[in-house]
Formats: sequence, structure tokens, C-alpha cells
Amino acid sequence: MNSTRKQVCNQKAQEVIRRLLKWYDKNARTLPWRYGHHEQGNPYHTWLSEVMLQQTTVITVIDYFHRFIEKWPTLKALAEASEEEVLTNWQGLGYYSRARNLLKCARYVQNNLEGAFPKDPSALLKLPGIGPYTASAVSGIAFRQKHVPVDGNIIRVMSRLYGLKTPLPDLKGEVEKVVKIYCENPRPGDFAQGLMDFGATLCRPKNPSCEICPLQNKCVAYEENTQHLIPFRKPKPQKPTRFGKAFLIYDKNGLLLLQKRPEKGLLANMMEVPSTLWSTDSDEVERSFIDIGGDGKFTRLNQTVKHTFTHFHLELDVYHGGLNDFKPRCSTTKWVAPDALDTHPLPTLMKKVIRAGNLC
Ligand code: SF4
Repeated sequence: MNSTRKQVCNQKAQEVIRRLLKWYDKNARTLPWRYGHHEQGNPYHTWLSEVMLQQTTVITVIDYFHRFIEKWPTLKALAEASEEEVLTNWQGLGYYSRARNLLKCARYVQNNLEGAFPKDPSALLKLPGIGPYTASAVSGIAFRQKHVPVDGNIIRVMSRLYGLKTPLPDLKGEVEKVVKIYCENPRPGDFAQGLMDFGATLCRPKNPSCEICPLQNKCVAYEENTQHLIPFRKPKPQKPTRFGKAFLIYDKNGLLLLQKRPEKGLLANMMEVPSTLWSTDSDEVERSFIDIGGDGKFTRLNQTVKHTFTHFHLELDVYHGGLNDFKPRCSTTKWVAPDALDTHPLPTLMKKVIRAGNLC
């Protein structure tokens, strides 16, 4: 970049920082993990909220954040929790590997770093479950270091401000380069949170409020009338659909049979009702049904539960019946009373299956 262009870029950045911080001081959302400009940062709160916010909306996270902070007010308290307790309280947030890594990270920081998160993103990146985004967020927001995390809101605002046409996901790298000039500002944490709020409330994905936007005359997309098109996206590859059969097995006292999933892989260590293999090949599902002794012994309910994971859609037919010669695919089983289901780490999928059984 030649020096004149660099100067123009810096001038634009300085003006955007000034206007954005002014906007943020008037319009910041009140969120339980936020603290004011003059207050001491709380890395535990920032880290917890940022881990929860990955793939989830602010509205959903608020209740979970309150629940965690009430139960585990400090990092030390969280580090002493069991994995089952953490998974149970995480139910409904999805992406359960985040909950397991949350606990690993809490234990690591408590036991090896005297309970103090490091300030620097390169040191934060070495902790379990912390990627570049969370490292920048904790460093910039809690420690007020010169780092601005790049989330979906920031990608949208920046790509519109600069009229960037590269489609997602490659666009992220381009925005990260642009954002570097914005790290040099007196309030990097407030600037990052301001951009997030600005993206969530004004520069929204659909129908951005350009007419009242304080950055309007700095915005290339507005000037080009491309704000409804940016950010561009590469078409996503279609997800395959897997099929399976799930079994609601009650004993004579009305207790439901649950089993624990394997330690590794999808929904690791969560509880589930037994099921066949989940496969795109329906013959394979039928063979699995025969192998576990389900064929002819279970009644199919008129319910198919649909659920979408990151890499595939799943359709589970729901069956019920007694144990008979049923051979579960797992050795860790447990009979659980229906009113005690909430005290077990059941993923949303399994709650849907159980609810489907209750509808019949
Ligand atoms: S003018 Fe419109 S598109 Fe540009 S930053 Fe403002 S709200 Fe976003």
C-alpha cells in the first residue's frame, strides 16, 4: 500500500473508531457479562460468555450465563465441578465438546496458572477449547489489550464499510487484515463490543438501518447500494441425511432405559436412549436393528424425529417396547424416572425422541 493510500485508510479508521465509540456509549446493550468503560474486566465472565456465544444467540445465552455464574461464581468453583454437572447445565446449548473443553480449560487455568487467565492471545490459544476468536475476545475485552475479535457481526459491518466482495468463508481472513488498523485505539474492547452491538442492532443482515447510520458516509456498500448483497457467500454443500431407529424402553415401574454415549465423537459422554446405527444406508440400519434384537419385538410409534447436526441431517423413527432379548450397543446403562431426566445430560435430540414417545 503506498503512503497516501495508507494515510487515507488510517483517517477513515480513526473516524470510524470515533463515531462508533460515541454510538456505543449511548446505545450499548446491557448484558450480564459486560462491564463499564472504567470498571475492572472479569476474564472469567468474558471467557464463559464468549464460549457460550459461539453458534448461539445472545438472547439464548443470557439465561445459561446466569445459571452458570450462580452455580459456579468463580473459575475455581467451575474447575471443581464434575463433567456430568457441566454437561447437564449446558443441555440445550448444543456443541457439547465446548462444554467439555470449558471444564478442561477451567481446570487447567486453576491448577497450572494459579487461576489467572493469561493476557496475551498467543498464551490464551494454548488453553483447551480456546481458538483465535476467543483468545482475541478475552485479551481485547477483559484485559483491554490491542486486539479485536472477528465474529459474524464484525465481518458483516467491516465488509460493508469497505465494500469487500470476497465471499464467505474466505472473507473472514480479509476482514482480519482490515481490522488490524482498528486495534490501535484507546478502547479496543469497547470498540469490539460496539461493533458487535452495531452489527446486531443497526447494520443487521437484512434491512440494515442505513438511513440513521452514523457511519453512512464512510460506507462503500451504502455508496454502491450493495449493502443487501454483502457479505457474499459461497453456496454450502448439501448435508447428507442419516436414518436410524430409537427405542423408548420402560420397565414395569415406568423407568426409562438410558445409556451413556462413548467418550469420544459426536455427543461424547452424553446420555441417550438406545438406538440403531445412524446411517445414510437404510439396509445398514435394518441390519443393525436385527443385530441388537429389535426386529419384531418393538412397536413403531407414528413419530419420526428430525434433527440437524453440523455435518448431517438425522431422521430417527421412534419405537417402544420391553427389554426382551434386546442387546444395547453400550455397557453403561441406567434406569431413570421420567421426572429425573433433567438431572442427566440429555442432548436436545434425545429430548425430542422422548417427547415424541409421550405424544403417542
Ligand atoms: S450505512 Fe448501512 S450498510 Fe453501511 S455500515 Fe451503516 S448500516 Fe451498515
